[in-house]
Amino acid sequence: MGSESVKVVVRCRPLNEREKALCSKMVMFMDLHRCQCFIEKPGAADEPPKQFTFDGTYFIDQTTEQMYNEIAYPLVEGVTEGYNGTIFAYGQTGSGKSFTMQGVSEPAAQRGVIPRAFEHIFESIQCAENTKFLVRASYLEIYNEEIRDLLGSDTKQRLELKEHPERGVYVRDLSMHTVHSVGECERIIEQGWKNRAVGYTLMNKDSSRSHSIFSIHLEICSTDAAGQDHLRAGKLNLVDLAGSERQSKTGATGERLREATKINLSLSALGNVISALVDGRSKYIPYRDSKLTRLLQDSLGGNTRTLMIACLSPADNNYEESLSTLRYANRAKSIQNRPRINEDPKDALLREYQEEIKKLRALVSGQLALLAGQLFEASPAVLSRPQSSTTEAEKDKIKEEYEERLAKLQAEYNAEQESKAKLQEDIAALCSSYESKLSNLEKARTSRGSSVLKNGYGKSSVHNKEPCKLLINWFRCLSFACCYVLCDLYAAFLFIHLSIPRLQQLEQEVVGGEQARNKELQQRHWQRKNLADQRKVHLIRALSENSEESENVLLNVYNSIQEEVHAKSQLLVKVQGKLKAAKLEIRDLQAEFEVERNDYLATIRRLEREGQLLHSLLERMVPLVRRDCNYSNLDRLKKEAVWDEDSATWRLPDVMVQKTTLPSAVAPRLATRRASAADAGEPFIVEGDRYKEMLDRSDSENIASSYFKPKRANQLLGREATKGHAIHSPPLVNGAAHLTVSGPTMNPPISSRPFRLESLDVPVSNGKVKRKKSKSQIHNEAI
Ligand code: ADP
Ligand code: MG
Repeated sequence: MGSESVKVVVRCRPLNEREKALCSKMVMFMDLHRCQCFIEKPGAADEPPKQFTFDGTYFIDQTTEQMYNEIAYPLVEGVTEGYNGTIFAYGQTGSGKSFTMQGVSEPAAQRGVIPRAFEHIFESIQCAENTKFLVRASYLEIYNEEIRDLLGSDTKQRLELKEHPERGVYVRDLSMHTVHSVGECERIIEQGWKNRAVGYTLMNKDSSRSHSIFSIHLEICSTDAAGQDHLRAGKLNLVDLAGSERQSKTGATGERLREATKINLSLSALGNVISALVDGRSKYIPYRDSKLTRLLQDSLGGNTRTLMIACLSPADNNYEESLSTLRYANRAKSIQNRPRINEDPKDALLREYQEEIKKLRALVSGQLALLAGQLFEASPAVLSRPQSSTTEAEKDKIKEEYEERLAKLQAEYNAEQESKAKLQEDIAALCSSYESKLSNLEKARTSRGSSVLKNGYGKSSVHNKEPCKLLINWFRCLSFACCYVLCDLYAAFLFIHLSIPRLQQLEQEVVGGEQARNKELQQRHWQRKNLADQRKVHLIRALSENSEESENVLLNVYNSIQEEVHAKSQLLVKVQGKLKAAKLEIRDLQAEFEVERNDYLATIRRLEREGQLLHSLLERMVPLVRRDCNYSNLDRLKKEAVWDEDSATWRLPDVMVQKTTLPSAVAPRLATRRASAADAGEPFIVEGDRYKEMLDRSDSENIASSYFKPKRANQLLGREATKGHAIHSPPLVNGAAHLTVSGPTMNPPISSRPFRLESLDVPVSNGKVKRKKSKSQIHNEAI
């Protein structure tokens, strides 16, 4: 499997109105022929400009059309052949990423890469011979490290990234939309764009703060001369990245700063991935550091052809950002991918569709034949049914496979079966009544006398009964057969009725070959393909010219020594210039690293401060949490918390209250309620509730008035009362008898048991109570 490097082109936009108004100077220049880009440091005229070479350079006058035809065309064409492809735009905000990816409708030459890719893909599909395509689209955005489906029913829902051994990294529940034309693609992207726009107004953000990925998934089924189908799959990712500017320059604070940190996080993760891939020595590639790098994993060092379009501003006030973009792009050039055609994809939907189409076609034609046969030759068909032919067997076989589909028909079929059964019953009833009548007749005749038998009538009547039975049996057969044929006809009719729309729907899902005979279109398609190839050859030649020049100086044979000295000193000056440029580059890089380091340090300091605040808050709050709750032990919680890589969140243990139930010292009703609440795993019994209950209880008991109860007075009053009123013993409650004094006086009840016993809730036997009661009665009476 051959490897190829990531293609990198740079595109510089013209000065905008603001820059013109600020009288900004141009610091960017390009040699389009050699695909070289130069950037001058503002205020350092003596320093040579920094020079970079790419796979393509597009300056202020070049159009998106030119860029697409030269560099993007082969990549997109590859997708229609079964390769994966990714095109992403990188650069600071306002450098022209969206202008390049989405573009403008006027002038037509500046239409973006995305609409051009749609046109291109559908042109290839229409020109393809003996090939069918299933085209689906998806559109997502990554905002603040959260993935959202821009075409889903809920655009605010956070989606998860998943990894599959065969599918690789994918977004779970991302909606896929089948598209059949350029128009449909445009409508879909517009819809996604609107959803993105709604998000911005709600969240006060703009396009520079989120990354968006529009993907076109192709499944290709080509039929060879032998009629054999071959399946392939290609995917094109069109990525519009967030602005790459540094947070220190934007002066962002608060939420904006947080956003910027996240944007920087994914972009620096992208940078780290690029560095690790280019380094060659590092075995670990930090793809998992951000959602963006995980999603682009296959595009960077994987099975994908990748094109990076680095967008630049030519103005001197953007020098630092432009230089950083150029360095980023320059590093990306060295990434090696291993693109290959995705043959025989395991989860191809198109395969399922094709198989279903084939089966449905066979089945529908089979059912049609059956229908026709049964309609025109109903009786012979019935008679010949038991001796089933081979075609019949085949039909049955296909029918078996489609048993599931017939599930819908089952209900109606069952109804038919029921009526058939009823018919059979009727026939059987008819038969039995016929037979009973016949036997009655027979009996009557025998009872009428033997004379009849003698003259031979009896014999003849027995003979007459046989044709009758035959007739009945034949009638039975016929009615069964009629029912069977009717049911079969009905099933076949219903099946066709249900299958044809599905067949049509499936056939409409796939596209391809509509313009296979359009010679003009084919010619144009071929020319565009060729143009890209020619340009590649041209570029290789231009790049080799540079190195050849210096080699020639050394190898050339000179007429005179002066000539040689002149040529070589010229080469020396060139090399010295290069050396100086390299030294300056080292200095600048160091200065830039310093700035970047400061940026990171600032972020670390800010995060540390935030972390410290949260920690201090927690330390204050933990003692307030009840002891029997697992959230009162912070160290244990930290140990139990698990980091979930997929959702990038901490999974914390559930809140638990582990309550040890001791024998209750309070009223049993309250104790039972509390114990049951703890048993049921009720996470919290609010402390306030407990105290409130205790307060209520103390109110009802009225401790102050009952503690120093005037016992003697009560006893006396009680005696008085007993004298005047009868003492009723109420029914036993909980095994303990309670004595209450009935009557108008509101005396406190006389306790039948000592308080200590009651609090222990010890059941007391009836006999004992009775004994006690009698004792107290005796005592009362004695007094
Ligand atoms: P980004 O998406 O990188 O933030 P935009 O694509 O929105 O930047 O471009 C910012 C502005 O510059 C827009 O008004 C756009 O029309 C203009 N612009 C960008 N590139 C070009 C170009 N190559 N030619 C003309 N105008 C451009
Ligand atoms: Mg943009």
